[in-house]
Amino acid sequence: MDDFAIRGGVLHVEDVPLPAIAEAVGTPVYVYSCRTLARHARVFRNALAALPSVHLAFAVKSNPNLAVLKVLQREGYGADVVSIGEMRRALAAGMPAADIVFSGVGKTAAEMVEALEAGLGQFNVESEEEGAELAALAAARGLIATATLRVNPDVDAGTHAKISTGKADNKFGVPYDRAAAIYTRLVALPGLGLRGLALHIGSQIADLGPSERAFTRMGALMQDLRSAGHVITHMDLGGGLGVPYRAGDDLPTPADYGAMVARVCGGWDVTLMFEPGRVITGNAGVLLTEVIRVKEGVNAPFVVVDAAMNDLARPAMYDAWHDFAAVRPSGETMLAHVVGPICESSDTFAMNRTIDRVVAGDLAVFRTAGAYGATMASTYNSRPLVPEVLVDADRWAIVADRIDPAAILAAERVPAWLG
Ligand SMILES: *Cc1c(COP(=O)(O)O)cnc(C)c1O
Repeated sequence: MDDFAIRGGVLHVEDVPLPAIAEAVGTPVYVYSCRTLARHARVFRNALAALPSVHLAFAVKSNPNLAVLKVLQREGYGADVVSIGEMRRALAAGMPAADIVFSGVGKTAAEMVEALEAGLGQFNVESEEEGAELAALAAARGLIATATLRVNPDVDAGTHAKISTGKADNKFGVPYDRAAAIYTRLVALPGLGLRGLALHIGSQIADLGPSERAFTRMGALMQDLRSAGHVITHMDLGGGLGVPYRAGDDLPTPADYGAMVARVCGGWDVTLMFEPGRVITGNAGVLLTEVIRVKEGVNAPFVVVDAAMNDLARPAMYDAWHDFAAVRPSGETMLAHVVGPICESSDTFAMNRTIDRVVAGDLAVFRTAGAYGATMASTYNSRPLVPEVLVDADRWAIVADRIDPAAILAAERVPAWLG
């Protein structure tokens, strides 16, 4: 996180001191570093440089902000989208339709038609039912839907249950043992241009062993399909590489990942496709917040900040850890709980944690908040939708407005019969 550093006693994002952003925009607010985003995009690409043919599709769901997508588009990334709304964002950012991959178990007919008509590059088909429907929709329009079949390799990614996606009981992909038969039936359908397989076993992966096992199984299935006469030109290995959330976390690097992929998949003679999300965006953002007050507790004080679970849901949803740091650290520390203002106990960011000493009115950040942060925000408790800022060297811009609760209220109606 060297684009997030203390200079002259004040935390900066690149060359911008965070108090300047707090003063102009208010808090809470997400702040992203353009330079970090671009660097991560290059590090990931370079880690795969030994492979002959690679397609990079940024997982839009990790951070769909239009300006963030623009940075990735300028780095030559396409997109992995999981809804038509995400596809529209990727197109709005200037990503060519041909570079977009559409994943997800619940693509509707309307979404598939819009994607087909836009010239979307690849559907990752998650079931035989979906494949048949897509084939029919494409054939009826005289089009071919380019696709892979997503396979569930039945591998435990060893990550949080809510973000594991590659075990037999997960809803994603077709069961490994049935995949060859399903592939054979789907490939025969007019309208479907099936060209390979896809997988994605989970997110925040901290151990490459399960990925290696999954890729090895997929390689075997690919060989079986080739032996049966199918032409396999594309294999989509998904995303999921984890990032360090706390000092001392020992995670595989993109280079470790790239070396493993080269060893396991380097001889496959296909275009290998990747869908990185968190590894690009996670450490490129912080959530800037102000301490409302410090409330006396029984065992430790409660530091009540103006950010809450509606702004950053990961701690409440996944028991996730985000480092908490003062913007003007004094060097002193305190043992405290860090909580938001929302009226439920899950609105807790940290319990019994040693943090920088803060008092009411101080600014602080939650680190590593660039992935699955703003995108999961809501207006729960009728709070505003959190804004986003992008920094580039010494300039910065608001890249998403704070949406006032009044705008939400204005979209609600009392029916006439309630008077
Ligand atoms: C969420 C998701 C990704 C990205 O996961 P990260 O952990 O952010 O890299 C990639 N592919 C698919 C299909 C996903 O659902």
